[in-house]
Parts: sequence; C-alpha cells; structure tokens
Amino acid sequence: MILDTEVLSKRAASAIEEADQFAQQQIAPNAAQWGQGLFDRHALFEPAGAAGLLGLQVPLAFGGSGLSFGDKVKVLHKLARIDFSAAMALVNSHNVAAQLAQASPHVLAPIYLGHLMRGSIVACTALTEPGAGSDLAQLQTTAIRQGDGWLLNGSKTWIINAAHADGVVVYAQTQAGSGVKGIAAFFIRADSPGFERVAVATNSALSSMGIGGFRLTNVYCDSSHQLYAPGKAFVDIMGAINRARTYVAAMCCAMVSQALTDVSVYGHKRTAFGQSLDQYQGWRWQIAQAATALQAAELLVRDACDRIDRGGEVQTAAAQAKLCATSMAQTQLGSLLHAMGAEGFLDRYAFLRHLTAAHTASLADGSTAMLLERVANDHRFKPGAI
Ligand SMILES: Cc1cc2nc3c(=O)[nH]c(=O)nc-3n(C[C@H](O)[C@H](O)[C@H](O)COP(=O)(O)OP(=O)(O)OC[C@H]3O[C@@H](n4cnc5c(N)ncnc54)[C@H](O)[C@@H]3O)c2cc1C
Repeated sequence: MILDTEVLSKRAASAIEEADQFAQQQIAPNAAQWGQGLFDRHALFEPAGAAGLLGLQVPLAFGGSGLSFGDKVKVLHKLARIDFSAAMALVNSHNVAAQLAQASPHVLAPIYLGHLMRGSIVACTALTEPGAGSDLAQLQTTAIRQGDGWLLNGSKTWIINAAHADGVVVYAQTQAGSGVKGIAAFFIRADSPGFERVAVATNSALSSMGIGGFRLTNVYCDSSHQLYAPGKAFVDIMGAINRARTYVAAMCCAMVSQALTDVSVYGHKRTAFGQSLDQYQGWRWQIAQAATALQAAELLVRDACDRIDRGGEVQTAAAQAKLCATSMAQTQLGSLLHAMGAEGFLDRYAFLRHLTAAHTASLADGSTAMLLERVANDHRFKPGAI
C-alpha cells in the first residue's frame, strides 16, 4: 500500500512538472494571439496529448495516468495560471475520455480513447440549449427510439470545444414530461449526417475555449453509442458537475495566483515619486487583500478535493469552493490589474483575458444563483439547525 502511494505520488509529481513545462513552452507563447481570436486547436490538443495531459484520470489499464482528482486539479492549476480558457478546453475533452473508459470500456473506449488521449480528436459535453441553461430539466433535445438505436433532434449552445469537436456527449430527453429521469446521454460523432455546427461569436478572450453550438436533425445514434441510459445520465452528470465546480474553483485560484506573482514582480521594479511601488503601504495593502482572499478560496478548494478523493459528500463543499473562488477572482483580478497601472493591459499579461474568464467561470458548471441555492438547501443551514 505504501509502495502504491509512492508510485502514485511520483506519477503525480511528474504529471504536474510536465504540465508546468507545457504551460510555459506551449501555452504561454500562444496565449496572447489566442486571446485575439486566432486559436488553432492543433497547437493545443496534440501537444497536450504528447505531454500526457489528456489521460490524467483515465485508468492505467487504458493507457492513462490514473491520477487522483486532487492531483488532476494540481495539473489544471499549472495550465490555468497561463490560460484558463485553454485549460478548460483540455479538461473538457479529457473528461469525455475518462467517461468513455468508465461507461463503455468494451465498446466506445477501444474506438475513441487512444485518439482522445493523443489529442488527434477532441470531445465536449453538451447540456445547455438556447432555451435551457440553469434549468436543465427543461432541455428540449429529444432522443426517440428508432430500430436498434435512437434518433436525436435539437440544438445545443455555449459548449466548450463545440467549435471544432469531433465527438460530443449529448444529453437528450427520451420521454416528454419525465424531467431529469428521462434524460439519457449519447456519444455523437460530428461527422454524422444531420449534425450541423452553429457558431457562437464570443469575446476573443475566450477563443481557446472553442465555445460553439450545434443543431441535430434526425441524427441517428446506434445503441452502442448510448453512454448512459435514462435515469443514470442525470446521476452521472451531477457527480461530474460537483467535480467540475471544484476544478473551476481551483483554476480561478490559479489565475489570481499568477496575477499576484506578476504584480509583485512589477511592483518591486516600477518606481514612482522616488521609490518602488511596493514601498507604499497603500499599494501593498491591495496585494495583501488579494493574497488573503486567495488563501481562503484555496482552503475551500482543498477541502472539496479531499472529499472527492475520499468518496465523501461534496455537493455543498464544491458549491462553496466555486462561489468563493469565482467571486474572489472577479474582484481581485480587477484590483490587481489596477495595481499594475497601464502595464497590466499589455498583451504579455493575462489580466484582461483572465478577468473575462473569471466572469464566465461564475456561470459554467452551475451559475452563482444555483450554487447559492445548493448551499441554502444544505440541512445544516436550514432555520433551527444553526
Ligand atoms: C464560458 C462558458 C462555458 C460553458 N461551457 C458549457 C459546456 O461545455 N457545456 C454545457 O452544457 N454548457 C456550458 N455552458 C453553459 C452554462 O452551463 C450556462 O451558462 C449556465 O448553466 C447558466 O445558464 P444560462 O447562461 O442559460 O443562464 P440562465 O439559466 O438563463 O440564467 C441567467 C441568470 O439568471 C440567474 N438565475 C437563473 N435561475 C435563477 C433562479 N431560480 N433564481 C435566481 N437567479 C436565477 C442565473 O444565475 C444567471 O445569472 C458554458 C457557459 C459559459 C459562459
């Protein structure tokens, strides 16, 4: 057992080191031009696959790294320091690889897993629709039985990687009126007849996220490509969303951590009125505020990661980590940008890209309102329990 832990931590340490190098050598030189809308998926996914970043939580038996959730989060932290959007793109495709290994080890994993882990194909997860965001029970995409398979119709939007994905996990209603119990999940190839991409024109700061949408018109899905049956799909996605809330929170901490480093270096060398900025108490206090808020969010993230790795209850912990980290990043990235003066607006820094990303983070994987409701519904915070 001790040996297992040692081997795992060596593997984890090498994945974290690999991620750091990848972030410095592959993401950093590209991030500014990606942030101007010039994203090229081949500059991200294939190199990430070669660096082992697309198989982090795929089991060893399938050629992945078999890391714990907490170690995966440490890897994502390295990537998100440089470009939150690129890190989101990678983890979303990675998650589908891990999902195929778990839900379809004998059918879909042998066909797609190797390609996904190499980054030669890209995948995404599609719940949101033009008419249904927070209220997932309202999703209108339908899956109707057709012979041995299913016929899918509907539209999805605001999906990470959908602008160029080769495979999408589509959540669709199989029985009108049955709410979340009727929702099933299907792995759909983007080259299927009836699959049509719909562009989503977003701020270019998000371009490496590959946000897009698609329309499905009588897209046939063989039963072998059904990932989760009605009833099981929603249970699976709720577990996945708690994990996503936790790593999104960690990635918000990563952005603020990078900003603090940049501000500290700059404040030491920039002078005004005869001394460096960091000699001024008023200037230093802004940095101290940000560092303290970051520390609080990181503690909540660590608690949620530990709960996930122990298999414990994590709904409230994940919601609180994301609530705290996203609002912390929304506030502190603006404040740290200000502390840089005009310098912070230069392309070589991530402040503006990351400020935009922090605002999107408060919507993706559960908006702030949904998370507050989750915390309010925790029995510990009900009237009489406090
Ligand atoms: C960058 C980004 C990436 C995304 N990636 C994906 C992806 O890969 N896959 C995917 O399926 N989806 C994705 N989404 C969509 C995301 O899940 C939705 O944005 C989110 O669920 C909120 O839905 P909505 O934007 O339609 O807002 P709405 O649900 O329309 O809500 C609008 C506003 O009203 C608030 N609100 C809603 N209901 C209530 C209520 N009951 N009480 C009080 N306030 C309420 C919300 O908090 C929000 O502020 C992504 C979104 C973004 C911004």
